[in-house]
Amino acid sequence: MAIRTILHYPDPRLREKAQPVPAVTDETRILIEDMAETMYAAPGVGLAAPQIGVSQRVFVIDIATEDEPSNLMAFVNPEIVSREGEQVWQEGCLSFPDISEDVKRADTVTVRAMDAEGKPFELTTDGLLAVAVQHENDHLDGVLMIDKLGMLKRKLVHREMMKRQKG
Ligand code: ZN
Repeated sequence: MAIRTILHYPDPRLREKAQPVPAVTDETRILIEDMAETMYAAPGVGLAAPQIGVSQRVFVIDIATEDEPSNLMAFVNPEIVSREGEQVWQEGCLSFPDISEDVKRADTVTVRAMDAEGKPFELTTDGLLAVAVQHENDHLDGVLMIDKLGMLKRKLVHREMMKRQKG
């Protein structure tokens, strides 16, 4: 396993639409292991493949708190098939270190995907896990949390990230 470098906004690779995984292979499982290790080291609750420069439709999530056993979930070729209700969560993103902003998303989502063994599954969830699924799924389409903010907040976050890039 290896910790990969996490790309930060405004890296253009974060804006690419990721490619579907044709088949879950050992290579996919190594990618998932690396992504998990990178996410835990950061630490974060979710990481999508484009964030480490891999243009594949894969993300990992673990929303377990410090005193809970870890619960790694891998999503390969995910598809959100239903969204209901509305919730606002203060979100962070490993591609926007130390920035957290309120983002409005669906309250409940149903997602279909394959796991690390290539087995299809369907999950209906709400709360933080639903937020994480929507946030990570957006990464696969090159959509970032900054896109979900109002104009003023978006400008402020953009300016802050540009400043850091220069500094
Ligand atoms: Zn993110």
